[in-house]
Amino acid sequence: MDDFKIPLRTRFAPSPTGYLHRGHVLNAIMVWGVARLYGGKIMLRVEDHDRERCRPEYETALLEDLQWLGLEWDEFSRQSDREEIYLEMLDALRMTEHVYHCQCSRKDILENSMQPGGELWYPGTCDNLDLDEKDNGVRVVLPTYSTGFDDSILGEQIQTPALQCGDILLRDRKGNWTYHFACVVDDFLQKINLVIRGEDLLESTGRQMMLHTMLANPNSPKYLHHPLIFEKNGVKMSKRDFSMSIREERSKGINREKLFGEVLYSAGILPAYRPVAVGELLQITEIYLFRILQKKQNLRRK
Ligand code: GLU
Repeated sequence: MDDFKIPLRTRFAPSPTGYLHRGHVLNAIMVWGVARLYGGKIMLRVEDHDRERCRPEYETALLEDLQWLGLEWDEFSRQSDREEIYLEMLDALRMTEHVYHCQCSRKDILENSMQPGGELWYPGTCDNLDLDEKDNGVRVVLPTYSTGFDDSILGEQIQTPALQCGDILLRDRKGNWTYHFACVVDDFLQKINLVIRGEDLLESTGRQMMLHTMLANPNSPKYLHHPLIFEKNGVKMSKRDFSMSIREERSKGINREKLFGEVLYSAGILPAYRPVAVGELLQITEIYLFRILQKKQNLRRK
């Protein structure tokens, strides 16, 4: 794509809260394919910011699964090793005087908030209460304007995070950093210039771009949200299909060529199922991006 920054730096960022499944494989293929196609670097980032839900054995398992897939990475980081960095960045954010403490539980928010678009929306209950930090969460006030970006696959997007989720939680009441905060700090400081992730995370992007601005990152990354897996052998996937981990599939004897082929087919990236070798992933990614680019150009012409 002509608008990717070179040298390209992207990341694969799984959370070790469970075993990898097909959705992760699709994301890993896209990250790997795009990075290798453009001579870029891949950061494998273990997003273990939630201490309650993450387990070291899931990290070990994900490293092993990735090795089995043959999708290698160039750099490695783990969020639980970066506590000091998040603290520093939080201090920097406090200088803006838009940071406040929040005593609300998830239940409180569920009870008191409207949820436009079905999302949990924080109504700013604790802003101006001047609560101290102890046992409270930390939030930042979001500007009320809309933010736009040109997604590499989906094209122009406009989001208004203040109406979608309200003020963002940076650290929860138990002291866990949140996904948005840790992810933005890392994307910024690790100089990630292309974020490649599934469409299910599209709504995260406007708010993350605002956080980049608040942290004074002059170069917010570019975003590419790829389609999700929706079918297996032409049939819509059920919850059960997603709950089957790659480990389990491996133990049942699947080989990776079959897995790659099924995953790419079920995301609509391959028009028909066929086994795919690692060596073919580059070309498949290239053809896919070419198709997308053409579609986007046709849309612009209309
Ligand atoms: N840890 C997030 C996940 O596993 C990564 C999201 C992202 O790529 O920004 O869903």
